[in-house]
Amino acid sequence: MKTLSITSMMMVGAVIAGCAPAAKERQLQQFITAHVGKIKPMEKAANLASWQAANTGKSEDYDKAGELTLQLRRAYSNAEEFAYLKKTKGAGQIKDGALARQLDVLYNAYLENQIEPELLKKIVDLGTQIEKNFSTFRGAIEGRKVTDNEIREILKIETDSAKRKQAWVAGKQVGPAVAGDLVRLVKLRNQAAQKLGFDNYHRLTLAAGEQDVRELDRIFNELYELTNEPFAKLKADLDRILAAKYGVTVAELMPWHYHDPFFQESPMVYDLDLDAYYQDKNVKELATEFYAGIGLQVDSILARSDLYERQGKNPHAFSTDIDREGDVRILCNLKNNEYWMETILHELGHGLYDKYHDLDAPFLLRRPAHSFSTEAIAMFFGRLSRNPLWIKQMLRLSDQQRGEIARVSGKYAQLKQLIFARWAMVMYEFEKQLYANPDQDLNSLWWKLVEKYQFVKKPAGRNEPDWAAKIHFTIAPCYYHNYMLGELLASQLHHHLVREVLGLESDGSVSYVGQKNVGRFLDDKVFQPGAVYHWNKMIERATGEPLTAKYFVQQFVE
Ligand SMILES: [Zn+2]
Repeated sequence: MKTLSITSMMMVGAVIAGCAPAAKERQLQQFITAHVGKIKPMEKAANLASWQAANTGKSEDYDKAGELTLQLRRAYSNAEEFAYLKKTKGAGQIKDGALARQLDVLYNAYLENQIEPELLKKIVDLGTQIEKNFSTFRGAIEGRKVTDNEIREILKIETDSAKRKQAWVAGKQVGPAVAGDLVRLVKLRNQAAQKLGFDNYHRLTLAAGEQDVRELDRIFNELYELTNEPFAKLKADLDRILAAKYGVTVAELMPWHYHDPFFQESPMVYDLDLDAYYQDKNVKELATEFYAGIGLQVDSILARSDLYERQGKNPHAFSTDIDREGDVRILCNLKNNEYWMETILHELGHGLYDKYHDLDAPFLLRRPAHSFSTEAIAMFFGRLSRNPLWIKQMLRLSDQQRGEIARVSGKYAQLKQLIFARWAMVMYEFEKQLYANPDQDLNSLWWKLVEKYQFVKKPAGRNEPDWAAKIHFTIAPCYYHNYMLGELLASQLHHHLVREVLGLESDGSVSYVGQKNVGRFLDDKVFQPGAVYHWNKMIERATGEPLTAKYFVQQFVE
């Protein structure tokens, strides 16, 4: 028998190694082509139906949109197709970068939809039940039922501490009404995740969103360390103001003294009325002019959008990419005030991200790198509506007017961001621990975290499921941390643009007005790549480092 030389053995090896992956890659490409051929028209139809429903408010339109969305989700629940994707991913034979990326995206989309129908039905039904209890429950003050708006109003304007306490307690009464069901829901979700091989549902959700708990822990710990001192100082200032306002000592301040039921928003203790500056301007024209000035064209988006109030129409705002081929629309209910200035800048930020995806990229990768990365772009632009220099330049104000705005707007930006960051830490940590062990003493856990992160005291002897009063645990599980990551990325992009793209030492004179290279940078590094790279790789390619909390702290703590 003839022995093969070392060289020819290596060649045989090379041929086998080279051949099998090529066949696997061809097979995967065929799968993707067939899959895209199927879901592309379904996705477009579902998006158009949702758009229609949001515009008309008709229940038959909502039913149709719901049905089409469900059909699309069902296309991702096929167990055989999932098994094929899992095997292909596990074998590690897909070497082509774009193909491997599409495989990851597909695998995650299928993963989220692999819960067996019976269990899924239980989860959906229980979730709907809790949501319904939320929307119909009314807390009571001295036996009188009150709405959430009434509670918020009292927490904003009432100066009597006893009355504030009653309102705060009323806002938490929904907790005991839903807590038992919510714990049951958490256990059902865990059951589904464990069947798919995950420790718990929190881990599954993170994995499907390409997030790793260690990486998130690292980012949140960094944020915690960096904001500890500045938050303590800022909160001490705030506490002095609030204590004086309510005629109590700082030591007597309780959760009901902080205006927002969860202290997630900044109490309005400094005067700032930006609406006066916007009321005789046109926010749509301002947004169009600003974006054109940085080289990003919103005209094609606005031409398809629905911008003004109408009977039956969805009263909020959103952006939607109908077909991943340039049909991008926003829905707004514009008025000429600061809120809608921020909102149209925000929604057009989402819209531009989608509009400028590279149309030559594979269909599956023509979407933002992550839901928080598109939120970051939207926040980055939305923040400008309160930027004194931006307002001055866009609204052609005097230096004196700019000075008046700057005196309070900087303070509010700081308060708003730091208060939200500390609150987001409570949400992230609680949810992580809730899914890790739903049988623990959750009432104590909640207050332990509130005291640790928000520096808000637990009322003596309180043992109620105050955590359960937060609806996000029910309707948007394991998602809240993404709001915070969006803020961090918005600041990281801001820092990079200021230093590296504009070449400035600080952001003191930055309004971005007229800066074409800013639009060009975002287009090249963020919009065009879409989901071609994992979100953290996209961030690293754009800014030179992975996602970090330090620039958020730099921007809002100095
Ligand atoms: Zn948004």
